[in-house]
Amino acid sequence: MAICRACKQEIPDGATKCHLCQSHQTWYRNPMVISQLFTLPMFIVLYIFILRPTWHSKDFEDYRDQFTVDQVSTTGSTDRHLTYKITNNTDYKWENVSYEIAMKKGAQLLSVENGTEYSWVIRPNGEALVTAYVMNPPVGTDTYEFHITDMKTNRF
Ligand SMILES: [Zn+2]
Repeated sequence: MAICRACKQEIPDGATKCHLCQSHQTWYRNPMVISQLFTLPMFIVLYIFILRPTWHSKDFEDYRDQFTVDQVSTTGSTDRHLTYKITNNTDYKWENVSYEIAMKKGAQLLSVENGTEYSWVIRPNGEALVTAYVMNPPVGTDTYEFHITDMKTNRF
């Protein structure tokens, strides 16, 4: 004879269920244990899809100094096409560059334009070009300053 795990009464050897209290005698037949087994994969899924992306996404402000910008060309007269080469000195891939262009006459700031290139990607320790279009820049503009304001890291 065996002993029931729940009521401690004698039950037949090999019984999977106690005939007195109806308790399951093997862990894999116990509905309570089975339902708890599902919580582990649930936490793994939660980790992969919700927590991991935020831990791995970088803040551009922390890496700002590791990017350099060189002006490649300026074309057009009334509408300006300004092309810049961005060099990424980080070990991460970045995308969705946001920038501002400050238009100056000497030291005087005439205007600022903002733009974002959503399909833009730069590889780790790589280079990429960005072309900004400025429609009708203020008369007298002699300098265009390009500043990166934000980028996003690849989430996975
Ligand atoms: Zn029992």
